[in-house]
Amino acid sequence: MDRLAADGIDVVRVVYPDLIGTERARDVLLDELPRASDHGLAFCRAVYHTSPQGDVVPVGGGLDAGLPDICVRPDLDTLVTLPWEPGVAACLGDVVDPATGAPAPESPRDLLRAVLARCSDHGLRPVVGPELEYYLCDPEPGPTGGWRRYAQDSGVVYTAGLRADPDNHLLRVLRQVRDLNLGVISGNHEFDGGQFEINLTHSEAMSAADRAFRFKAAIKELARKEGRLATFMAKPFNDAGGSGFHLHLSCEGAEGTEGRNTFDDPTGAYGLSATARHAVAGVLAHAPALAALLNPTVNSYKRFGPDTLAPWLIDWGLDNRSAMVRIPPERGSGTRLELRLGDAGANPYLAVAATVAAALLGILAGDEPPAPLEGYGYDATKSARLPTTLSAALDALEADTALAEVLGKDFTTSFLSYKRNEVERFQRHVTDWEFTEYAYHL
Ligand code: GLU
Ligand code: MG
Repeated sequence: MDRLAADGIDVVRVVYPDLIGTERARDVLLDELPRASDHGLAFCRAVYHTSPQGDVVPVGGGLDAGLPDICVRPDLDTLVTLPWEPGVAACLGDVVDPATGAPAPESPRDLLRAVLARCSDHGLRPVVGPELEYYLCDPEPGPTGGWRRYAQDSGVVYTAGLRADPDNHLLRVLRQVRDLNLGVISGNHEFDGGQFEINLTHSEAMSAADRAFRFKAAIKELARKEGRLATFMAKPFNDAGGSGFHLHLSCEGAEGTEGRNTFDDPTGAYGLSATARHAVAGVLAHAPALAALLNPTVNSYKRFGPDTLAPWLIDWGLDNRSAMVRIPPERGSGTRLELRLGDAGANPYLAVAATVAAALLGILAGDEPPAPLEGYGYDATKSARLPTTLSAALDALEADTALAEVLGKDFTTSFLSYKRNEVERFQRHVTDWEFTEYAYHL
């Protein structure tokens, strides 16, 4: 506390992820920090069951249990000064259910912790590198209250500077997020006007998920500071591509072999170890269920499709961006798979936990993947299709009892209830498309 006070900090923001991976938080005055650490901060468990529109969805343990508490304790090891908010430092919070003293059942961070413990039981230490894309939007002029893309240029993929970023958004946020110690490496303009990608370095999986979670929150907050909207939703615009959340995955051995990449084997098929090939097979085998967690909105399925650089089929390939799983060309310590399935709207903890769980199941099953995709993909005669709706992906998750068991049955039940409510609300909603399509002619 003395150190924080000397640094001019008088508020500590305690932050934790909800089910959809957005921040829930409380600002705690510095003098109150010891009490918050000892007693914890009380929130309502229904924080995990609240829709983006603010309705509490009926999920077991929430409304039906009388809206009980969860208790959040600051994890001061994760404390970092917020460069854009003078006097405020932020840290992650650990969430327990005060009734049991155990982690809260829906806590995404604890779910990942449990999956990583399973990996550790099998001598595996997953290493993850997150790549996130997002769109920046400006307020629509006039009274509509809408948002439009910050820039409309085409042909600006892989550029930096004023050519497609007239207000130097990228440079500004890159420096700010660097100062958050999130392991941010670099950024550039993405494919469509107003779309950016910023890469985070690889690390042990929990740290990667923590950093991706904090990164998304920081980018959105920095855009708000400028009166703008940064969105990681999967496919915000009809006339532009979606935003991906590519996950690079490799594994180190358990204690004693740290630092050795167990996915590398110069003598193995494709220069990949059996562990790596089994991990690929696991990700392919569980892909329909994985979609529920990596593509968790009704909007997510509009990002998929032929010729999108997002996947459409359940396939893998060697340095092939048209496949769902790409094996980048590096070998040695850089040997890894890149799962291109996820969209940027996914909860980073759930995306990492599900990917690691599927890889683990593949490694335990010891299956080999089919022959890799050759050439340009998106040929539905060669590979099975991914689910085409959130509803189908949720059914696939429910049917995938092996994956649900690794993720936790209670978590899976809660997640399915929460997301099926989202599907039902969408199905009842009359969309702009329907009015445009039918109203005049019918
Ligand atoms: N925007 C594409 C997606 O939604 C990915 C583009 C890229 O290859 O980086 O996955
Ligand atoms: Mg990209």
